[in-house]
Order: sequence, then structure tokens, then C-alpha cells
Amino acid sequence: MKSHQLKLYNTLSRQKETFEPINAPFVGMYVCGPTVYGDAHLGHGRPAVTFDTVNRYLTHLGYRVRYVRNITDVGHLTGDADEGEDKIAKKAKLEQLEPMEVAQQYTDTYHRDMALLNTWKPSIEPRATGHIPEQIALVEAILKEGLAYEVNGSVYFDVLKYNNSYKYGKLSGRVLDELISGSRDLDGQGEKRNSVDFALWKNAAPEHLMKWESPWGVGFPGWHLECTAMSSKYLGTQFDIHGGGMDLMFPHHECEIAQGNACNHRDPAKYWMHNNMITINGQKMGKSLGNFITLQELFSGNHRLLEQAYSPMTIRYFMLTAHYRSTLDFSNDALKAAQKGYKKIINGLRIARALEYLPNPEITVDQEQINQVESSIAAAYRAMDDDFNTAQAIGHLFNLLKKINSIFTGQLSSAALGEEVFTKLKETFITFVVDILGLIEEKSDVQESMIELLLKLYSEAKTARDYAKVDEIRAGLKSMGFVVKDMKDKIDWAYEE
Ligand SMILES: [Zn+2]
Repeated sequence: MKSHQLKLYNTLSRQKETFEPINAPFVGMYVCGPTVYGDAHLGHGRPAVTFDTVNRYLTHLGYRVRYVRNITDVGHLTGDADEGEDKIAKKAKLEQLEPMEVAQQYTDTYHRDMALLNTWKPSIEPRATGHIPEQIALVEAILKEGLAYEVNGSVYFDVLKYNNSYKYGKLSGRVLDELISGSRDLDGQGEKRNSVDFALWKNAAPEHLMKWESPWGVGFPGWHLECTAMSSKYLGTQFDIHGGGMDLMFPHHECEIAQGNACNHRDPAKYWMHNNMITINGQKMGKSLGNFITLQELFSGNHRLLEQAYSPMTIRYFMLTAHYRSTLDFSNDALKAAQKGYKKIINGLRIARALEYLPNPEITVDQEQINQVESSIAAAYRAMDDDFNTAQAIGHLFNLLKKINSIFTGQLSSAALGEEVFTKLKETFITFVVDILGLIEEKSDVQESMIELLLKLYSEAKTARDYAKVDEIRAGLKSMGFVVKDMKDKIDWAYEE
């Protein structure tokens, strides 16, 4: 384990805390996954990239992370609460499909998009429908504790009673009295003793598509329950990190805490991490606002708000240029700037990989240069150790990149750094870009071979002084996003920035 003082912001305590896993070197991390009834959009991309980067950095530090991210394929109702239709069943009716066909289809497209964003797969990806017995067992346990009640085949969590011994609202900062008075006049309380109570199990009407036998009759589980069932099954009743988007903090995560405490008398997670929301041109993203953009639309540029396509790595890079707890605003200008930044980093990666140490007895070691490299490396780690501040870490990477470029162009001799510092510079840059930030080159091996071939023809045309051909090849490569670099002793290429 590398000796790092990693601090992370815990929503539960509202402050940065030193990260101390319950059972180091093991780390258990649970992140709420998608409800699979539509294409993945920016709101899915951000938590996936955020917690992928957390996973990558913890792994880099030597922790053994078990990352569990669920697939919600039942129980998530259209109102995000206890009323309305099941989101997946609704889509299934619209498209005349089995609910499981809908879930499968959008699980597959979600996986495709997450792979394009170069996120590591979770260690375990449980589905809610695969854990019905576990959810029923939890309902029984909460009933046994006297913290739930049954009405007409549905079971509700008794928030007021729970609050006598525990604190409902401690994660989100919501005050129970205000929640109750705020909803007093609203209809729809129905079977609940109090409007703040939430469903653990819902009785299913005969026409309901997804339903199971239970001790309370035929029904289906409440949305909040699945995360408690699956996190405790695979990570234990108390694990290290629970993550998700800020929009899930209330009521979803608050209810998870209540369920965990009701069953196990302790908080399910030690640290709660929440990524902030995404805006589009300064506006909240929403289907009704017409600014709802799926990841595929971004990758293809096929959306009226987009001036061009933005590659998956541009999107990933863009997300990492903001701290995960800041809001992130998508606009064409910001995305174009991110595309430039990403290409600079990837050009640097190509150079760094090819760069070799050249010993030179005539050159003395330059302590000033060494200090600059060492301090940028330390600062990049400090940024990651400070609540995974990728935005700052990228800034320090650009300082390292300047040194790499200077060595490449011959302005700075690798010998001036000495072999040890030179190697540290090269390896730190590559490790940060590829392993920690998860940024990779997007072109294929075939493209690489084609570029090599074109550069060979370019070189031959140059030797033959066939300048029309030289210009033609140069223009052809440029149209594909590559620039030819005529160097002193060779011809190279780079991504156009
Ligand atoms: Zn969840």
C-alpha cells in the first residue's frame, strides 16, 4: 500500500474525512446503477465515470476494491416514489415487449456505452429481480423489529416510529417535522399511516406485469429495498463507500440508511459520496425541456443542440476536468475545449511512451528542472488525495506534459533530469493518464497501420520532390484529424489539437 493520506468528502458528516477502510486492504463500494428502461444519458455517464475513477485510484493505491453496482429492473415507479407505474413495465407495454426484454435491451446498451467511456466493469452487477427472496427476508426482518406495518398486502416502513430510536434525514439534512407538515395537504397518502412512510413491498394489481409471491400476497418490492438487499448480501451489513448521484440522496439513500439500521442496527456505509448534477447550457437537463441528451447522441453528434460529434474519451475527459462535487455544464464551447485538451494529453501519451533516456556525460544535472518535475508529481497526487480532485490533477499533468514536450523537441535534455527522475516523469504521466484517469487513444490498430503507410508515401514523395503529392497526403490526413510532423531526422504524426 502506498503511503497516502487520502481524504474524501463524506455527505453524512458534511466534511472531508481521512479514508480508513473497515478492513484494509479491502474496500467495499456500492454504487446505485441505472434503471434500465431507456438509453443511457449524461446523468448516467457522470456517476459511472466518477466512481470508476474512485475505483481506479483506490486500486492504484493498492486497495483491493469490490465494486458492486446494481441494475434496477423492477420496482422503480414513474413518480420516483410509491405511486405510479413501474418504469420498465410501462416501456414494455408501449413497445409490446416482455419487461425482461426491455431490461435486457437497455442493460446491453448501458454496458456498450460504459465500455466506450472506458469504465471498468463492476466486480458484481446484481439485478433487483434476481434478489426477490433477499428483499422479502429484509421486509420480514423490519416487520419483526416493529418498524414496518402491513396494509392490504403492502408493507410500509414506519418512519415516525423509526425516528424514535434513529434519525431519519441525517444524510440529506431533511427535517422530519418539515417533511410531514409539507405534505399534510397532499392526497395520495392512501394506506400509509404517514405521508413520509415508504413502501417496502407493494401489493400487485392483477394486470401488473412484474410480480412475485410473498408472505403478504402477490406483489413487488419497493425501489429502495433492492439496494439494501444487494449491498448487504455482497458487501456485508456495513461497508466502506456508498456512491451515487446527488439526486439519489433523498429519499433513496435516506431510506437505505433507515432500512439498514432497522435490520442491522448500524449504518450500511461508512462514507457516502455523491456526484453533482449536469446542466446543459446552464439549464437543468430534462425530457420536457428538450435538452435531454443521450450518450449515443453525443458520440454521434445527432442532436439539435450539438454542433458536432464528441468522442467518448472527450466526454470522459470533460467530466474529469471538473471536480465531481461541482456541477458540470455541457455546451459546445466547453466540449470543444475538452476535445482539444484530450488530444493534447493523448499526443503527450504517444510521445511519453516513445521517449527514451539518452545519457550524455557533457550535460550536468539541472536541479531546478528536477524540482519542478518532482513538485508537479507530488501535486498531482495531492490533488487526487484531496477528495479525488481530478480537475487539479489534470492541471499538474499539463506541467509534466510541458517537460515531456521539451525533451521531445530537444529543448530539455533527458540527461539534465538524470535517469531516475526522467523515468519517474515518464511513468507518472502514463500511469495518471491511462490507469488513474482512464484516458486512452481512440484509434484502432488498423488506423495506426494506415497512418504509417501514408507517412511512408509522404516521405517518398518528399524525397522525389513531388510536392503536389506531399500536399495531398498532408491534407488527407488532416481531414481525418491527424497532422504530419516534419522533424529534423524523421517524420511523425500527432492528433490535431
Ligand atoms: Zn440505490
